[in-house]
Amino acid sequence: MDGKALAARIRREVAADVAELGELALATILVGDDAASKIYIRLKHNAAREVGIEPIDRRLPADVSEAEVIAAVDELNGDDSVDGVLVQLPLPADLDEARAIAAIEPVKDVDGIHPLNAGLLYLGRPTLVGATPVGVLALLDEYDVPLEGANAVVVGRSDIVGKPVAHLLLERNATVTICHSRTRDLPALTRAADVLVVAVGRDRMVKPDWIKPGAAVVDVGMNRSEEGLFGDVDPAGMEVAGAMTPVPGGVGPMTIAMLLRNTVQAARFRRGSLAFPRA
Ligand code: NAP
Repeated sequence: MDGKALAARIRREVAADVAELGELALATILVGDDAASKIYIRLKHNAAREVGIEPIDRRLPADVSEAEVIAAVDELNGDDSVDGVLVQLPLPADLDEARAIAAIEPVKDVDGIHPLNAGLLYLGRPTLVGATPVGVLALLDEYDVPLEGANAVVVGRSDIVGKPVAHLLLERNATVTICHSRTRDLPALTRAADVLVVAVGRDRMVKPDWIKPGAAVVDVGMNRSEEGLFGDVDPAGMEVAGAMTPVPGGVGPMTIAMLLRNTVQAARFRRGSLAFPRA
């Protein structure tokens, strides 16, 4: 499943949407100087610029107070020219991520992690949902993977990937099993999966014989080592799976493309062409 190609198409569609909607802006807040976060911010800004969305770059020093982070979020919440607000995670350890996220105006929450948006997803009313999970579903749809009634196994239960992916699959009438670090006999569960989504962060953990022949496998993992960048699934799994995402070139490019699409969606909510649920 070629995420690079699909992401390129989505970016073209987003560019057309932006041209129709007029000026759009995506604001990011980066606290401290985590090297990986700086790279992600640069990628997001470049991608935004390419489709005609203005990137707004707010940077705060690592020793900033929680009140100052929330003040920065509030300022962007109140700025009518800003469509999306994103706090780059992780925050430095002494800052409370949950409170910073809760400060984001839900209709501008392009990462879909504000409790209102997460709760709406849980209630089966997906509104703004994180870019990685919607990217996973977009890939499965692009390759016509049947979801209704399928056995879907999600390995990983993080708030940003595993849980939202599981809810989106449930929404599509898959029978969903969520696995995590305490799951007993994980290979037996993954082997039963028609659709397997792995978001763990362990280099090539899922072996080819953990995969049901013909299954659709989405590998969210990004593990950097001296050998290079690898996913959570052994690339030899491609020979067993019916369809599988590569790393790189699978979910990674989809995440950026879907963030841009979420920014368009947030703009439509605020401009009234889509109704944003209040509760
Ligand atoms: P996370 O917050 O660290 O969560 C990892 C999950 O994996 C946890 O639920 C954990 O279980 C589970 N886990 C850990 N070891 C396990 C094991 N041996 N067997 C089964 N489950 C195990 O990670 P995340 O943020 O979801 O990210 C997961 C991976 O996706 C990382 O490699 C990350 O870099 C990558 N990622 C990629 C993108 C992209 O755009 N491609 C976006 C986001 C994340 P417990 O809950 O029990 O601890």
